[in-house]
Amino acid sequence: MSIKRIGVIGGGQLAWMMGDASKKLGLELIVQTPNKHDPAVSIASDIVLSAVDNAEATEILSTRCDVITFENEFVDLDALSLLEKQGVCFRPRLAALSPLLDKYHQRCYLQDLGLPVPEFLAIESSVNIASQIQNWQFPFVLKARRHGYDGQGTFIINDLTTLSTIVSQSHTPFLIEEFVPFTRELAIIATRSVTGEIVTYPVVETQQEQQVCRRVIAPADITSAQTAEIVAIAHKILNSLEVIGTFGIELFITAQGKILINEIAPRTHNSGHFSLDACVTSQFEQHLRAVAGLPLADTSLTVPGAVMVNLLGYENSNSDYQAKRQELSAIPHAYLHWYGKTESRPGRKLGHITVLLEQPQDRESIIQTIESIWYCK
Ligand code: ADP
Repeated sequence: MSIKRIGVIGGGQLAWMMGDASKKLGLELIVQTPNKHDPAVSIASDIVLSAVDNAEATEILSTRCDVITFENEFVDLDALSLLEKQGVCFRPRLAALSPLLDKYHQRCYLQDLGLPVPEFLAIESSVNIASQIQNWQFPFVLKARRHGYDGQGTFIINDLTTLSTIVSQSHTPFLIEEFVPFTRELAIIATRSVTGEIVTYPVVETQQEQQVCRRVIAPADITSAQTAEIVAIAHKILNSLEVIGTFGIELFITAQGKILINEIAPRTHNSGHFSLDACVTSQFEQHLRAVAGLPLADTSLTVPGAVMVNLLGYENSNSDYQAKRQELSAIPHAYLHWYGKTESRPGRKLGHITVLLEQPQDRESIIQTIESIWYCK
């Protein structure tokens, strides 16, 4: 089938960043999103104004497009599967999402594939919590099984009282996992096409602050053997799930060089934003290529390296930060992406900036320049 109209569930910045690629490829984007001020409304040829987990709205979306994809995975899979059975085409298919949406199921899925994950355990209930964790030592990490993002629902636990309090006060299922003493966090973006071809982007280092991604460094300074191990992990995951589309995979690396998977995002990912300006083909174009059944394209870096810094809200405001944006844009080889959100809140992703590097050693001073402009540090 010839695909021209792509339905996108979710209208945030990830959908917005598909805009240029969709024009280039001659595709239309029809976006399902709850708010008419959401970033991707401006690039959509049509919108369905509704929450992303409203499957009735997705049914309407399906009548206006050839295939549906996701920029937000917090959907109602059971309800969507009825649509899939009726012939609505989802790319990735729903079976590629279903083992991933619950962090405990995701860990089990990866472990069953023989892939390296931290030790983990589902917390069955807030009753008798001490006996459930009797073989565990503090610190460990407590995670809400569903709907976590940007570290929401992830807690480092140092004592039983804190654990019991969080679990008993939140009416949501949890898992615990070993605290990984990582030296760095890494990520890889991978795309799989309708024909099963897979391409991967350079492995990057991601730096989190308060569990929110703050910076991405491309490429990561790791050995070629480590790169090969991570690329093999990506292939195994995308092949076993028979993914059509782009996924982001977050990993930990320890001082001993041990690699563990932290999390799979079944969509384009913040760790791949550098590809917009630093690679031959962006992760967004690559995703649309896969979803539209087109051949995949070159993922190489066009420069020796790049840094991407997220511009996170640091106050409650309606400012559009014109002056700071101008100052940031004036940095040589800088590409500023401003998501056009009308409200700023602490931690909210308002935009990002990528700076292309001729010399990797310039990295720290550029990060310092960006953060001193943005955060007035
Ligand atoms: P989210 O899904 O909300 O992004 P993550 O599970 O990716 O949450 O965790 C957010 C951050 O918390 C990670 O990037 C990492 O810095 C830290 N973290 C998560 N799991 C662990 C772990 N098992 N050990 C050590 N740190 C962790």
